[in-house]
Amino acid sequence: MTSPSSAIAPLDTARIRADFPILGTLARGKPLVYLDNAGSSQKPRQVIEAITRYYESENANIHRGVHYLSERASELYEGTREGARRFFNARRAHEIIFTRGTTEGMNLVGAGFAQAILKPGDEVIVSTMDHHSVIVPWQQACIRSGAKIVAVPVTPEGELDIEAYVRLLNERTKMVALTWVSNALGTINPVRRIIEEAHARGAAVMLDGAQAAPHLAVDVQAVDCDFFVCSGHKMLGPTGVGVLYGKETWLDRLPPYQTGGGMIDMVTIEQSTWARLPAKFEAGTPDIAAVVGFQAALDYLEAVGLDAVAAHEHELVSYATERVAEVPGLRVIGTTPNKAGVLSLVMEGAHPHDIGTILDQEGVAVRAGHHCCQPLMRHYGLSSTARASFYLYNTREEVDVLVGALHKVREIFS
Ligand code: PMP
Repeated sequence: MTSPSSAIAPLDTARIRADFPILGTLARGKPLVYLDNAGSSQKPRQVIEAITRYYESENANIHRGVHYLSERASELYEGTREGARRFFNARRAHEIIFTRGTTEGMNLVGAGFAQAILKPGDEVIVSTMDHHSVIVPWQQACIRSGAKIVAVPVTPEGELDIEAYVRLLNERTKMVALTWVSNALGTINPVRRIIEEAHARGAAVMLDGAQAAPHLAVDVQAVDCDFFVCSGHKMLGPTGVGVLYGKETWLDRLPPYQTGGGMIDMVTIEQSTWARLPAKFEAGTPDIAAVVGFQAALDYLEAVGLDAVAAHEHELVSYATERVAEVPGLRVIGTTPNKAGVLSLVMEGAHPHDIGTILDQEGVAVRAGHHCCQPLMRHYGLSSTARASFYLYNTREEVDVLVGALHKVREIFS
């Protein structure tokens, strides 16, 4: 395996870019400027090669065979579990559950709480800036259990109103489920404080780490969250794999989410008992190749260094914020200084989808829409924004191309 750029700040983006074959693509005849990283990141050669190698020489089903390949595949799969434990600093490997991604992890815990924990009159706190994959599973868990869902409001700058959060907490609060880093605004939420306040009142906290895990160093013991979820595809890894971290005491209290092969201890026609963690939550054949590829992504991020990635993105988003101010009629939604590499834009007289389409003609890939955050859009009186989101391989020159293309949008719509 070729090793990526060693840990340095500022990042050697030229060297990093050389690891990402897709970044050489021409889009609409122009060099691709990929700024939809909050949607999904691109993959380095090291990840692609790990998946190819797996299918060419290591593929078999895991945990069941006594033969060489099954042993090898199981070793790789469990190796990634240990790799993820180390990456997120979980106490034990069996506190790491492989899922399809953030959404599945959130549903797993939401369904478990609805079945085993929540009672009528209990309360669950989410926030107005949360992704639908936080809001909807917990809303449904509340509907099923008779609990009440309440949301922390957001300030005009796009921060959580922490005073209001503290007021919402009470002895009936059983769960606080929140986005660590907002995909629509870039806001990095003060999760340590949020968790301390919740724990002081006996409530559990589940963090949506979909936008945290790719962009900043995550230490689940240091923040002391009860659950944490993320998606491999947003952190240089393949689609089809995500991580649910849960404290052992919590995971032991929750019922299985899916049932079937691989998750049982003993089965009769009438009844079954469950396997221990982590197997209890991993029914059926998982996406083994994706899990294998995910380890290569974790290795890559570790070699570059998450602190260096965070600093690079902060520098890029600050530069981009400064430069887009030159474009008349353009407004940034989410203006807190403490933000990750996300720039949500609206332009007077131009629909975000038109912005996206015109940028695409210049080879610039952004996302236009509500970003699965309809309550947040409603809060700002918007239906959508055009969102540029940065990652470790993006450059200041690409920001310049973005700004040039935004000037073109302005010309067309003025
Ligand atoms: N939460 C946030 C903050 C996200 O950005 C996303 C992906 N856009 C998700 C959750 C859902 O992730 P996935 O679709 O990989 O399950």
